Amino acid sequence: MSTPEEAPIDDLAAFINAAPSPYHAASEVADRLEAAGFTRLTSGEQPPGDGPVVVRNAGLVVAVGRTGQPAAAPFRVVAAHTDSPNLRVRPRPDQHAAGWRQLGVEVYGGALLNSWLDRDLGLSGRVALDVGTGVPELREVRWDRPLLRVPQLAIHLDRDVSSVGLKLDKQAHLTPIWGLGTSTEGDFRDWLAAELSVGAADVLAWDLMGHDLTAPARLGRDEELFAASRLDNLCSSWAGTVALANVLGAPTAGTPDAVPVVVLSDHEEVGSTSGVGAASALVERVLAASVRAAGGDRAELDRALAGTLVASADMAHATHPNYADRHEPQHPIAAGGGVALKVNSNQRYGSDARTVGAALLASRRADVEVQTYSHHGALPCGSTVGPILGASLGVGVVDVGAPQLSMHSARELMAVADVEAYRRFLSAWLGGPARA
Ligand code: ZN
Repeated sequence: MSTPEEAPIDDLAAFINAAPSPYHAASEVADRLEAAGFTRLTSGEQPPGDGPVVVRNAGLVVAVGRTGQPAAAPFRVVAAHTDSPNLRVRPRPDQHAAGWRQLGVEVYGGALLNSWLDRDLGLSGRVALDVGTGVPELREVRWDRPLLRVPQLAIHLDRDVSSVGLKLDKQAHLTPIWGLGTSTEGDFRDWLAAELSVGAADVLAWDLMGHDLTAPARLGRDEELFAASRLDNLCSSWAGTVALANVLGAPTAGTPDAVPVVVLSDHEEVGSTSGVGAASALVERVLAASVRAAGGDRAELDRALAGTLVASADMAHATHPNYADRHEPQHPIAAGGGVALKVNSNQRYGSDARTVGAALLASRRADVEVQTYSHHGALPCGSTVGPILGASLGVGVVDVGAPQLSMHSARELMAVADVEAYRRFLSAWLGGPARA
């Protein structure tokens, strides 16, 4: 198996393959960090000492790389998200029409709906089972065979589609087919039960979603490009995880002044307000437990947070060659041009002069090129977990990302070179001096 150092792009592809759902992403991150020496804790469990710990709850991971720093040492955080827009199976999904058996889904987040048409989709997520203990057992599941497909209407029946544009109604037009015939209530539950070798009554509930089965691929004349599903934001989740393991594993670096932390949260695509989103109180609780493990109390936590800086790592819009007019002309973003620092005075991004300054110094330490993103003035700007963590923890934030095209498509595109630049930049950020 290749290591991240040998072939980061292959390792990113393996990470994306391992993570069709936020649950699988969090699981993969916790496994990797445990292998790198982190102690795995359940939510609410106290760290046994002042070593590195990883807390995972559903699609949320908080990893604290404490290695002997004082209790009041500030945190250096990389924050990203484990979720991506997709199609999620409804609680009562059994339906049929015109001789087709269909599965009812709900659109999750701001998906580019057209990109989900005519793709062979697998299913993944988790299922709650009654195993007789009085507590639901949560089982992570995935099916990587083609189960679902949302068929596009033939052009002969939609003659204006290319000139007028494709209009998709989320309720009417996105229901996948998954067979022929009719459906009755309970069909999907019966299918799940048979697949999992349990009784139908033991299937209590599910969090299941479709994923494109096309494998990640290098692309282009010289294979400089990389196409994959869920680059937003598994690329950042991967880069932050590998960077954290790098910082702790670096033989010559010694103990960093700040405590390196990675927060990977769920539900960013729908606003982050949930028990496992970036707004979750769990984030501060894990940081507080880490301060206690180092002998500190609330006063030390307050001092630690006062010096804390967060890099909100989320993908950035590269300038699109066919739509250059959608971009702010003074702030072009080149694929292959290194890490993008994102600035928005309306606080859609958390960056300010102090935190951008700290990020620039990290880029110099890492010898990584940076470019600055500013959104087109007449278009509404997307946001990230940055402003949310800035508000809930009361800390400084810089928004950073690797350039990509087709954000929120079922299959996105970026430059291979930016993957390694991103990892090196985040390593320098996590291992950097405590104070900006
Ligand atoms: Zn994102």
